[in-house]
Amino acid sequence: MIERKSGDELLRFTLMNGQVRGMLCETTALCQRASDLHNATPVCAAAMGRLMTGTAMLGVMMKGEDEYVNVTIRGDGPMGTLVAVANHGDLKVTADNPRVQLPLREDGKLDVGGAVGHQGRMTVMKSLGLREPYIGQIELVSGELGIDFANYYTVSEQQPSLVALGVLTSGDAVLKAGGLLLQPLPGCEDATIDQLELRSPMFADISRELSFAPKEELLEDWFRGMEPELLERVPLRYRCGCSRDKMERALISLGRKELQSLIDDGIPAELGCHFCHSTYSFTVDELKDLLEQATH
Ligand code: ZN
Repeated sequence: MIERKSGDELLRFTLMNGQVRGMLCETTALCQRASDLHNATPVCAAAMGRLMTGTAMLGVMMKGEDEYVNVTIRGDGPMGTLVAVANHGDLKVTADNPRVQLPLREDGKLDVGGAVGHQGRMTVMKSLGLREPYIGQIELVSGELGIDFANYYTVSEQQPSLVALGVLTSGDAVLKAGGLLLQPLPGCEDATIDQLELRSPMFADISRELSFAPKEELLEDWFRGMEPELLERVPLRYRCGCSRDKMERALISLGRKELQSLIDDGIPAELGCHFCHSTYSFTVDELKDLLEQATH
């Protein structure tokens, strides 16, 4: 039996002796934190939560310590652009408009696709330390995001995948949130894929499933008889990582012309972080110091 641990965490596992690799995660606290930080409406909390959960699974696949992944969704919905960043288990998210309100869908669920938009682009940028970044871009399929992540893996990484993402809310509270990724690897037997398809209705509504049982129990129940083997557990947390130092570098990289125009304004420059809403203020004298460091 897999040891039960509460809290946000990602479990990496295999099925059928390595024929399938998978990830199952709970992201309830992460999604609540994002919802609180951005003062999000339920449908926007769900959209940002699903995006962050999908991004967490990509983030955990990265090997190097300084590697991170950035997923940007530019849909034609009222939320505008959504961005999530994962540095291994450290997550953050932002959206242009997190206050969108939409009626529930006919099936009683939050209309995430309506808020994000059914058309647009999904861009995955993997920053690989000293190597050139990897950039994958695809059209959105639905804007519901689970199916969009699945499509990204299948089309951009040539890796057929099943992805379920879910955020269950009640008013401003995130009750449960999480995600599942299943990837049959080369050489996977047809019978194994048939088994996954047969069982897929069990994990379709993942946030509700998580509200009934801990993730470890779900892993054992869903894949009974398929030799689920736990490989790794990764704690997940909301962490921005912005700092005054990074803001200074961002200002310097604006270039001399932009900096001079800020100095000419004669008032302190206020910079806000989109991911955690921290603000950083730079006086005119400080801006002048930065101007001296700017090389272009
Ligand atoms: Zn920040």
